[in-house]
Amino acid sequence: MSGSLTPPVQLGEPRPAPKPAAECDICQVLVNERQLAEARGDKSKVADLNIELRNHPEHEGQ
Ligand SMILES: [Zn+2]
Repeated sequence: MSGSLTPPVQLGEPRPAPKPAAECDICQVLVNERQLAEARGDKSKVADLNIELRNHPEHEGQ
């Protein structure tokens, strides 16, 4: 055991920030809320919104 922590998903980025679909109003709202959550340091809310963005079904596989 070296003690290294391997993340389950490697994206090659320091912090995973799912990109919203350009024409999806819901994603735009989620991104806006995420920015507000980040601004007030609400990390659990940010993670929550990232999951919602990633799982938004309307443009899955884009
Ligand atoms: Zn969306």
